[in-house]
Amino acid sequence: MLTMSNGLRFIGYGATVTCPNCHNRVVEQIFVRFDDMGFAFIPVWRSRFGTESICHICHTVLEATPSGNAHRLDARLRMASEATLQYAKSLTWLQRRTYLSDLRSLELRDFSAFIETHCTG
Ligand SMILES: [Zn+2]
Repeated sequence: MLTMSNGLRFIGYGATVTCPNCHNRVVEQIFVRFDDMGFAFIPVWRSRFGTESICHICHTVLEATPSGNAHRLDARLRMASEATLQYAKSLTWLQRRTYLSDLRSLELRDFSAFIETHCTG
């Protein structure tokens, strides 16, 4: 299970890129940053700061995207949507509900629908 502290929550995999720090070819791991995890279960109280794509080898931030850029984020997530779907399938029902809530709070309606449709049962 992929988790990170400091208000970062994993939302999916993105493009395959070369990390400028460790020079490995890596699939981006995209996280959303929330300001206060204490209110994680009540989405309306959260404020989002944006998303970060992180190298899973050295944890360098590859790209930070401001919030409100759902179209661009959606395009990145589609590059590795099968990998993200496998991640979603590995979650418990409750974890997946929170995950889908995260996607919707980023206004990724099509992508959250894609995940939801393929995770039934
Ligand atoms: Zn790296």
